[in-house]
Amino acid sequence: MAKWLEATVVENKQWNERLHSLRLQADFPEFKAGQFARLALDIDGEQVIRPFSLVNAPDETPLDFYFIEVPGGQLSPHLARLEAGDAVQLAPKAAGLLTVDQLPEAKHLYLLSTGTGIGPFLSIIKNAETWQRFEKVVLVHAVRYQDELTYQDTIAEVQAKQPESFVYVPMVSREQCDFALSGRIPQAIEDGKLSHWTGLDITPEDSQIMLCGNPAMIQETMDLLIDNYGLTKHSRREPGHISIEKYW
Ligand SMILES: Cc1cc2nc3c(=O)[nH]c(=O)nc-3n(C[C@H](O)[C@H](O)[C@H](O)COP(=O)(O)OP(=O)(O)OC[C@H]3O[C@@H](n4cnc5c(N)ncnc54)[C@H](O)[C@@H]3O)c2cc1C
Repeated sequence: MAKWLEATVVENKQWNERLHSLRLQADFPEFKAGQFARLALDIDGEQVIRPFSLVNAPDETPLDFYFIEVPGGQLSPHLARLEAGDAVQLAPKAAGLLTVDQLPEAKHLYLLSTGTGIGPFLSIIKNAETWQRFEKVVLVHAVRYQDELTYQDTIAEVQAKQPESFVYVPMVSREQCDFALSGRIPQAIEDGKLSHWTGLDITPEDSQIMLCGNPAMIQETMDLLIDNYGLTKHSRREPGHISIEKYW
């Protein structure tokens, strides 16, 4: 692999006890909204590398990475302690196929995320190409507690720019709040609550679905969409409706 870049921390924004946005300055090449980069630190003499989604739009700086500190994790607790001016290693180019240009034509794009899995979708909703491709874009952000519903400023900006086309659906599973759906993504699809909120039906004719975050949510949602809604998994060889990125 080509030489690693040295990125400099511009800001380490802490949203709550475990959630951070690490903003980095680096001479990073062009990437597509929805892709990820690789960050690394030398820890006890060993380079520890992990992938993280790019949250900023391709034409924005600084680079923005939204991550959770995993207790006992090898890398994330170290990233969580970084301060402005610190150095981070950054692989020299982005990767990943969770991008809008990979998708077949459709009217409606569903971006279904749990936790930090909203990251690539924030880049996607900030990117002009998304709004040229789809009539409606539904962003579902499923979290456990309402203080994990982060990036509200970004979401409000997109809402203001795309009032007819953008539907944001916050979903909270472990506490009651009056502005969010309760429960989990597969459940909200199955019991019709998501469709009631969006005013749209998920169909093979109209819908492209992207799933990102917790692997259990992804598997369960994908099974439901395949078994009950007639959707198929998308790949370059066999075009379908469901594109996924599992974070672990
Ligand atoms: C393509 C890709 C993109 C990713 N993008 C992001 C991102 O933008 N933000 C982010 O926080 N993570 C992201 N991840 C996960 C990330 O790469 C690391 O796995 C995570 O930061 C934990 O690393 P660690 O070394 O601290 O923990 P490790 O010692 O590697 O422990 C891994 C364990 O941490 C837990 N875990 C990993 N990621 C998460 C998560 N996001 N939320 C809750 N629990 C988790 C799981 O139980 C997993 O088994 C991505 C993963 C992939 C494959």
